[in-house]
This record gives sequence, C-alpha cells and structure tokens, in this order.
Amino acid sequence: MAFKGNKAFLPSKPCVACGREMSWRKRWASTWDAVKYCSDACRAGKSGAQNLRQDRVKH
Ligand SMILES: [Zn+2]
Repeated sequence: MAFKGNKAFLPSKPCVACGREMSWRKRWASTWDAVKYCSDACRAGKSGAQNLRQDRVKH
C-alpha cells in the first residue's frame, strides 16, 4: 500500500551509534537525510562508532 502522507506523521529512524529511535525535529528539517546520531555523545563515538551496541551511559 502506498504511503499517502499524513501531516501528523513525523519520520523517525534509529541512531546508528546507540540504536535509539530518533524523532524528526524541526532543526533537522534540511539535514534529516544526513542525521545519523541522536546526540553529540553518539556522534563522538567514544566507544566505537561502527558498533550497533547499546552501552550504558556513564555519568
Ligand atoms: Zn544515539
């Protein structure tokens, strides 16, 4: 079935670093396709940017 579009629908996709689902944000309107990380911490990839694992965040 083709996607008809819904104004209430916002796209989402998983963070490539932690796998957590990210919801579309207005600040990402022009860069959504390029967004890969949910946060600066994930972008930094301190514990292996290539790995799709869920490490517990240490404070
Ligand atoms: Zn993340």
